[in-house]
Amino acid sequence: MAKSALVLGGGMVGVCTAWHLARRGFDVTVVDRRAPGQETSYGNAGLIQRECVEPYNFPHDFSRLLGIALGRDNTVHYDMRAMPGLASRLWQYWRQSGPKSYPAVVRNFEAMIRHCLTEHEVMIRAAGAQDLIRPGGFKLALQSPRAFAHEARRAEFLQQEFGVGSTIMDSDMLARAEPALRERFAGAIHWTDAWAVRDPGGLVSRYADALQQAGGRLATGDAATLEADGTGWRVSTTQGPIRAEHAVVALGPWSGRLLRGMGYRYPLFVKRGYHTHYAGDAGLSTAVLDMKAGTMMVPMNMGLRVTTGVEFAALDAPPTPVQMRRSERRARQLLSLGARIEPTPWLGNRPALPDMVPVVGAAPRHRGLWLHFGHAHQGFTLGPVTGRLLAEMMNGETPYFDPQPYSPARFG
Ligand SMILES: Cc1cc2nc3c(=O)[nH]c(=O)nc-3n(C[C@H](O)[C@H](O)[C@H](O)COP(=O)(O)OP(=O)(O)OC[C@H]3O[C@@H](n4cnc5c(N)ncnc54)[C@H](O)[C@@H]3O)c2cc1C
Repeated sequence: MAKSALVLGGGMVGVCTAWHLARRGFDVTVVDRRAPGQETSYGNAGLIQRECVEPYNFPHDFSRLLGIALGRDNTVHYDMRAMPGLASRLWQYWRQSGPKSYPAVVRNFEAMIRHCLTEHEVMIRAAGAQDLIRPGGFKLALQSPRAFAHEARRAEFLQQEFGVGSTIMDSDMLARAEPALRERFAGAIHWTDAWAVRDPGGLVSRYADALQQAGGRLATGDAATLEADGTGWRVSTTQGPIRAEHAVVALGPWSGRLLRGMGYRYPLFVKRGYHTHYAGDAGLSTAVLDMKAGTMMVPMNMGLRVTTGVEFAALDAPPTPVQMRRSERRARQLLSLGARIEPTPWLGNRPALPDMVPVVGAAPRHRGLWLHFGHAHQGFTLGPVTGRLLAEMMNGETPYFDPQPYSPARFG
């Protein structure tokens, strides 16, 4: 059974891990209950976010927190019923977001994000998926002069410190660049290095095709059937049981459930988000995020995808219409929006950890078990980056950057 692996989960994270393993000579099978890229990796905003050096932290600003508490801020919504269960994880998240801890979080995040374009590029080439990629970045539109000045300072800092490309656009520049916007903003930051993907689920599916070309396999099955089997692991699939020396848990928001059954308690929580498609592209040349309204508008193959901010709720709680309704209203104010394509919004779950970096590495108490989840807002961006990192660890190579900050052992 030497050099064989089961990768549980066929989202961006699992498929990229499997591709890197296959390239290193592993006999690898991705096991998912669905086809690749049909869950969180399907419904996101599709941005490969080179600019995202600073992951979304828990706000410490009192007026913002008050706005969220009173339900006036569309960037965050919460389900009161979920709060008791989430309290300790949100408390940890709040602490990690403070001035003492956050600089280290940024260092650890930047160490991953700096590789996102180069690592995606290798896979895009292997998958022949150039037609799905739209370089040219996206625009962060700011309603108030104060927010614009703040973001402009931040953009200059990120440019100097980390080489992140941007153009600071005043109100007139933005109006000229995006004439379809019916309202004037104070200005925008055009993050020029980011790439937009025209069909995020489609990209994962192409990466899965590349995996198969590299000798990997796809199987349908329930990860909950994973069992230790001698010195390796076994899972039941529709093609029968599959055995391998290694197993990788890459189940995104569902990873915590499987691991609880094995005695691990990771403080994973979900930041839910919604999208709806509207016919046409509404005339936008790039994706535009109205930051204050918590509304992202992204031209895609299916139409204009409007996505929402964060909802704190239980993984299986029924959807709430609050944020999507407000985001649709805002998008209609800003753009000549086409007809709605889906009758009900899509709902997905960003898999988040309190210290804002994913878990990547060996399970502390099980030989041959590897953990790979918790990429939160940037799993679509980071899948190929941490996929390579984990594959190098599993193959006994020197990792291309230090994996220590992402160690599964950090949660005890
Ligand atoms: C609204 C929204 C916008 C976003 N925008 C961006 C963006 O622009 N850029 C970015 O980088 N990220 C973005 N994200 C985050 C990104 O989508 C996630 O971080 C990423 O998709 C996580 O990938 P994953 O592979 O870990 O999880 P998933 O894609 O959810 O994959 C997990 C897989 O596990 C499978 N699975 C679960 N349980 C079982 C089981 N028991 N048996 C078998 N299979 C199982 C599922 O079917 C699924 O295929 C956004 C997220 C949302 C919700």
